[in-house]
Amino acid sequence: MRIIDTHCHLISDALKDDIPNILARAQEAGLTKIINIAYNLESSQLVVEHLKMSSMLYAAVGIQPHDVATYSEETATAISNIALNSNRVVAIGEIGLDAYFESTRKTLSLQQTCFEHFLDIACSLDLPVVVHVRNTHDEVFQLINKYSKKGLTGVIHCFTGTYEEAKQFLDCGFYISFAGIVTFKNASSIADVAQQIPENRILIETDSPYLAPVPMRGKTNEPSYLAHTCQFLAKKRGKTHEDFSELTYSNAHTLFKRLNN
Ligand SMILES: [Zn+2]
Repeated sequence: MRIIDTHCHLISDALKDDIPNILARAQEAGLTKIINIAYNLESSQLVVEHLKMSSMLYAAVGIQPHDVATYSEETATAISNIALNSNRVVAIGEIGLDAYFESTRKTLSLQQTCFEHFLDIACSLDLPVVVHVRNTHDEVFQLINKYSKKGLTGVIHCFTGTYEEAKQFLDCGFYISFAGIVTFKNASSIADVAQQIPENRILIETDSPYLAPVPMRGKTNEPSYLAHTCQFLAKKRGKTHEDFSELTYSNAHTLFKRLNN
């Protein structure tokens, strides 16, 4: 069995002091690779530091919408250089647009500038992007559509939209990734969307420390819990746990080419 967690935040306060134990439990649960995702310059430096701890670890670097206040030309350039200098930085992320909170709605125009800057960086480094979308489908789609024509690929992480929205991203060549929410009883519409995503474009993730899947719901999430989401989606799609984990493992390696490093 080979499972890859394509999105987790081992750099978060909830997880960063317990990484060796978290990795041991992950391995026991069948995980062989984990992509540790940064939110800003400081955590982008930290995900690269963490690479020294285990060959299971890979990284993504960027500035996410909640940290857009830390964005400047200089911080973006520093992050770009981190990606350039480590061949186990597999993607630019997480980046994107968030209009869910009143606080994030206020920064939307700066978020747009930051997001577009990182899409340019990803294109110039020939790296895929890990994209956060919350109440911003149209705005994100417009940019992804534009950049996909320049050869950009990536994943919409922790997808919670409709199939029609997923289809727009799929048509741009993007992948769709599902987190623990898909297992929640009140989220059956997301599970239905996950059932319809083409075989070669689906990914799975924990987004730990957030959104632990059933039956761990409410606990601090960690990569080992991905086995529950994997099993849930395997059943939903009529596959064995092993076949579905292998499928998403192979998809991740097609998208994130540096996973082979
Ligand atoms: Zn995340």
